[in-house]
Amino acid sequence: MAKPRAKLATLGVHAGSSLPASTTPPLIPPLLNSTSFRFSNRRAVQEYNRARGPSQSLYGRYENPTVEACEQKLSLLEGAEGCLLFGSGMAAISTTALALLTSRDAARPLLCSTAIYGGTYRLFRDHLLPLGLPIVFLDPVALVEGEWPVRPALVYAESPTNPTTRVLDVEKLARRAREVGALSVVDATFATPVLQRPLAFGVDLVLHSATKYLGGHGDLLAGALLGRRELLDRVEPLRKLFGGVLAPALAATLARSLMTLELRVLRQSATALDLAQRLSLDSRVKAVHYPGLPEHPDHTLALRQLRAFGAVVTFELPGGEADAERFYDGVCLFARAVSLGSVESLVSLPIDSSHVGFSEAELARAGVSRGMVRLSVGVEDVEDLWDDLDKALPG
Ligand code: PLP
Repeated sequence: MAKPRAKLATLGVHAGSSLPASTTPPLIPPLLNSTSFRFSNRRAVQEYNRARGPSQSLYGRYENPTVEACEQKLSLLEGAEGCLLFGSGMAAISTTALALLTSRDAARPLLCSTAIYGGTYRLFRDHLLPLGLPIVFLDPVALVEGEWPVRPALVYAESPTNPTTRVLDVEKLARRAREVGALSVVDATFATPVLQRPLAFGVDLVLHSATKYLGGHGDLLAGALLGRRELLDRVEPLRKLFGGVLAPALAATLARSLMTLELRVLRQSATALDLAQRLSLDSRVKAVHYPGLPEHPDHTLALRQLRAFGAVVTFELPGGEADAERFYDGVCLFARAVSLGSVESLVSLPIDSSHVGFSEAELARAGVSRGMVRLSVGVEDVEDLWDDLDKALPG
């Protein structure tokens, strides 16, 4: 601390560097951007090094009170013992996979659904497999229902899936994993804790690209891992070393977004159901993939395991890729932009976005057709959204 009579340069650095003693607690947790934290003496540092106390912070890559406040909020929403926030969904996924997978036991691989986000698939196939980490891919239906070709150490799936909107029986998946002594990990980005809490169905770890619904306003990248503390303790050391922790300012923004998560997701899901129903009745549309429709293969399961059906609607047009392009170029209100989960409605073509560069065989395995259109439904008025779709549908 600088003495009041210190010189200008010293005062410039040190004056006013602690918060005024406050008798009135703030309504919103303060944003603490500090990268380091002040210790009162050496003993306090040694105590931290021996065993970190619950409110102690050392260095921003290790812990930060603003980030921890957001982690606590998200843990409570997800019904989890704890949460680790990351700088993106991919940072959460890559750090978790590397922390939990070992190359030592090829007989106990990561058993992974093929219907996963393209970036996750590319990470596993192009970067983790070549490192010698054993990964076996399986169709999502076979993953839940079929015989497993290996005895996995880890089972990884996404539900609902992107962009095909298949809903997996996460309860059954978790049970089967448990029976063979494997951990189950579910990327529940599309569901959010509003629609489903996979931990309550026995899943061990839940992942989110918080960039999507949790952030919800298209202005932050973040990722989250949630589950039992004992499992998070296996991942946290790698978050420190890889450095993928979320920045405090973004954690504060994320915490603010979480305040309206339920309002947004329920409204977006209701609008998506309405649009999916209209599209499914429209003769210009070949097929609609939305779990809220009775003809969807997982409708009954979705009724059982989801609170609503989500805000992603995928559909196919009779003219395939050419029709999809005409529709894509024809919308006005839906923004031609990748990502999903924001308050603005977005449209994307999976072959140009999540599944760009996939071979025909890989597209077929992921259930993605070249004429697929994916809508991410926002919070706008349903009639304005339908008007936009109606005008852009070819034929
Ligand atoms: N998981 C799913 C289901 C996604 O859709 C995405 C991104 O689109 C990711 C993970 C990766 O998240 P991020 O872009 O925040 O790294």
